[in-house]
Amino acid sequence: MGCRKRAPASELLRIVASRVAPDRYLAVPDPRRIRPGRGAHLHRDQACLALAQRRNAFGRALRVTGVVDIGELAEAVPMAAETGTARGGSVQPHPDSQGRTTGMSTR
Ligand SMILES: [Zn+2]
Repeated sequence: MGCRKRAPASELLRIVASRVAPDRYLAVPDPRRIRPGRGAHLHRDQACLALAQRRNAFGRALRVTGVVDIGELAEAVPMAAETGTARGGSVQPHPDSQGRTTGMSTR
């Protein structure tokens, strides 16, 4: 779900839908895979979560109709700050950190 990339199950987070109202569900993270019901799998990644949400993939993957609240899920997925996967950043190293040849030893 989400980005639709393949990944080993250990890298995926299982999600199940918990019904909170006739047309409203809560997406609940199930890292231990112990909850009954139909589960969906998502990368532990905010980007993947956002993609899945944008595509409305939760309803489809979990076979529910109605609103799926992912508030709880968003907290279970770590921010993709330091994983460094495809952020597309072009951060260059500091020019200062390269040439430490000329010190300030002029005295
Ligand atoms: Zn993904």
